[in-house]
Amino acid sequence: MSKNVTVVGAGLVGSLLSIYLSKKGYNVSVYERRDDMRKGKAIQGRSINLALSDRGWKGLEGVGIADEIKKIAIPMYGRYIHNKDGTTAFQPYGTEEQAIYSVSRATINMKLMDLAEQQNNVKIHFNKRCIDINKQYNTINFENVNNHNIETTNFDLLFGADGAFSASRLNMQTGTDRFEYNQHYINCAYKELIIPPGDNETFKIEKNALHIWPRGSFMMIALPNPDGNFTCTLFLPFDGKYSFDNLKTKESVTSFFNEEFKDAVPLMPTLVEDFFNNPTSSLVTVKCYPWTFDSKIALIGDAAHAIVPFYGQGMNCGFEDCVVLNELMNLHGNDWEKVLSQYQILRKPDADAIADLAIANFVEMRDKTADKLFLLQKKIEAHFSKKHPDKWIPLYSMVTYSPNIRYSKALEEGQKQQAIMDEIMAMPDIENKWNSEEIEQEILSYLY
Ligand SMILES: Cc1cc2nc3c(=O)[nH]c(=O)nc-3n(C[C@H](O)[C@H](O)[C@H](O)COP(=O)(O)OP(=O)(O)OC[C@H]3O[C@@H](n4cnc5c(N)ncnc54)[C@H](O)[C@@H]3O)c2cc1C
Repeated sequence: MSKNVTVVGAGLVGSLLSIYLSKKGYNVSVYERRDDMRKGKAIQGRSINLALSDRGWKGLEGVGIADEIKKIAIPMYGRYIHNKDGTTAFQPYGTEEQAIYSVSRATINMKLMDLAEQQNNVKIHFNKRCIDINKQYNTINFENVNNHNIETTNFDLLFGADGAFSASRLNMQTGTDRFEYNQHYINCAYKELIIPPGDNETFKIEKNALHIWPRGSFMMIALPNPDGNFTCTLFLPFDGKYSFDNLKTKESVTSFFNEEFKDAVPLMPTLVEDFFNNPTSSLVTVKCYPWTFDSKIALIGDAAHAIVPFYGQGMNCGFEDCVVLNELMNLHGNDWEKVLSQYQILRKPDADAIADLAIANFVEMRDKTADKLFLLQKKIEAHFSKKHPDKWIPLYSMVTYSPNIRYSKALEEGQKQQAIMDEIMAMPDIENKWNSEEIEQEILSYLY
């Protein structure tokens, strides 16, 4: 097998993958349709941040860049709930020291590109949009987005890391026998807004938390950025009573926010301008299979498995793809037939599991974080887990803080736990005896 690998897409996953491949001695050519975002703000876009958790950290540690990213990451130790009546509540994500981290998408992407280019066997080609792949003759066509010239190059091994609307995946759909493809848009769109910093870059709301304004069928969240601002995301149905359809005028936006997010409004001086200037974007889950073709093409990251963002796991899952591929390269060297067949067999159930968990977590975030019984259930689970950490790891912790537990295993265990908790929550007077010996024994009895 030749040592030349082509990667389509220099996003988060394509950039990380290229570093892993280069460290194994491959010569990597990365083709990215956008201009180099390191040239300036105009190309990076708005300040969008992501929640990075343990699976993502593991991917970054594998290439030695985790410590550098940690310096610019803000730990969020729990959810900070903003109720409609103005009350607030802090709900820890796990134990005291457990956190997820807010990181700027552009910064992490740029640092990964820097590191990729520091390897002397990675070259990133910008402004090159993949338009076609010839699977038979191993050629790939790119459009130079500046002059629209078409350029053709050969590949030996190709990774499609070109995101949720992947051209590589589209190509796999044609001419791959029994290629399964499913995409599902939820009836909810998102729009990014901003809470700017106070004087001297101070944070106007709690810095070390993920803020949620849960409102049943919709919600707003906010994640901190190092310069004191918060990126807010409003998740709202396209149509219906509370929807983007009903927010077409300045007056309707102002009155909706005053009614639903009263405590946030004074913190958002550019709310109305931002609302009308920023795009309303849809949210899609993509499931497909196979992810590989003839041991020479593979999909990775969102190209293989786009998920909705409610578990904060899309990037983390894509980074975990890279970790798994790296482990398989350690095992099988450059026997790509083995590496790629095992890669897709291992990763497909995990990607499907986190896709389903992410959909379920939307309901949890927008609705249940304000529900007293749900919060009691979480309190019982945390209490029991603290006493019996070997017997019960809460689902959120399995997904977020336990990179050695596969997503598919976490989903399976989570379903078993929910069945037990349904019984426990139905017990009379549970509100008063939730931390009693009786409840502890009852849970234990279900576990044996
Ligand atoms: C609102 C929102 C919030 C999110 N929050 C989180 C979070 O908190 N935590 C988390 O882990 N994940 C989160 N995600 C998911 C995360 O953004 C994605 O999973 C992650 O970006 C996937 O990385 P990727 O490299 O596979 O794809 P992308 O980041 O989409 O990168 C794909 C790259 O390919 C390039 N490209 C596309 N088409 C072509 C082409 N034809 N030719 C050449 N290049 C091409 C693109 O320009 C891009 O650079 C969120 C997603 C959304 C939408």
